[in-house]
Amino acid sequence: MSDAKIRLYVEHPLGPGQSVVLSREQAHYLFGVMRLSVGAQVLLFDGENGEWLAEVAEAGKRGGVLTCSAQTRPVQMPPDLWLLFAPIKKARTDFIVEKATEMGARRIVPVQTAFTNAGRVQQARLQAHAVEAAEQCGGTYVPEVADMLRLDRVLADLGDRQIMFCDEALADESNGGTLPELPGPWAILIGPEGGFSDAERARLRAMDTAHPVQLGPRILRADTAAVAALTLWQQRLGDWT
Ligand code: SAM
Repeated sequence: MSDAKIRLYVEHPLGPGQSVVLSREQAHYLFGVMRLSVGAQVLLFDGENGEWLAEVAEAGKRGGVLTCSAQTRPVQMPPDLWLLFAPIKKARTDFIVEKATEMGARRIVPVQTAFTNAGRVQQARLQAHAVEAAEQCGGTYVPEVADMLRLDRVLADLGDRQIMFCDEALADESNGGTLPELPGPWAILIGPEGGFSDAERARLRAMDTAHPVQLGPRILRADTAAVAALTLWQQRLGDWT
């Protein structure tokens, strides 16, 4: 066992003896902020080849090189679960991406719905949040954060992927929908602050693959709803057992 604490995601295939050239930002973090020097150990993961123990071979202000020694963990893929959500305010959108990564979503897709307020998202910034979340939670996989896509286009491209349609209209009903235990790929769909339009609800309710689900009798904020839905899904169908 190593006592290396720092975990870093690198966009470079890892393997025995593999050298990894650090970006300027990574070198600044390791050598400027964390004060590591040659010989120090860190843990690396690349999203495909698991987690590796690596040693600092070269350390500079603007760069550095790490060398992999041994694999410490194989890659652990999350279930084939996508989170589709209508972006809200910046900090709350960041929160959703961070929590979805920690909780085990494989892909995160911001969707433009009829009542979505955000006109665009900063995809690169959201992707960086997913990387940070994977680094801190011990994950060996980083979900892709897509650019914002229109809900109707996303729905048309989902194929036979099942949809956990979190429908706030069910909050008033004493017998809200439950999540069927169907195997295979899934997506969770969370609407915006303004909820789903009648047309979106009608379209979703007409889809065999969409399963309307209630998240309790109260209306949750979208960020709370995302965490609640991920919890429900992971508990029922995912890798939490
Ligand atoms: N403005 C809407 C209203 O008052 O009915 C509420 C929208 S809610 C803030 C944002 C999203 O969270 C909803 O579109 C839905 O996907 C999800 N959500 C919140 N509470 C829910 C509940 N009790 N059941 C199912 N989904 C819920």
